[in-house]
Amino acid sequence: MKVRRIFCNQPNCSGLMRLKPPRLLACERCGYRRVWERTPCFVPFCGRTFKCDGWDINEEVCCGEHWRTAPEQLRKEHARFRRRHRLNYRLWQEAPEGSEAQAEAAGRCDATWGLCHDLWLVIRSRILEAAGVMT
Ligand SMILES: [Zn+2]
Ligand SMILES: [Zn+2]
Repeated sequence: MKVRRIFCNQPNCSGLMRLKPPRLLACERCGYRRVWERTPCFVPFCGRTFKCDGWDINEEVCCGEHWRTAPEQLRKEHARFRRRHRLNYRLWQEAPEGSEAQAEAAGRCDATWGLCHDLWLVIRSRILEAAGVMT
């Protein structure tokens, strides 16, 4: 995971913001603090975090490293469901407001979202198991 450097936004200060886990940033020059709007990996004690936006399927996020601890078969299936969901989502977005096509796409979206989510729950417990976390 790439970490972008974050600098202080206070007047006349451009000090480097350092992360105080889990979600606090503190300027090393002036001491200004603010909450970091990022989401941590759902595995406790992992410490990797992500930008909150752009996550449309699961409310939780999982870092790449923990993701790879899930069985490959499940990950591939999840990627397939995700692709289908993304396609349905796009169809829904592009359909004219209030049209029959839009209603149909909405139904498909719900279905593929459900598939993704149900499989995520399975994968989630496998990852926690692999990490030695009791569920
Ligand atoms: Zn500062
Ligand atoms: Zn993690």
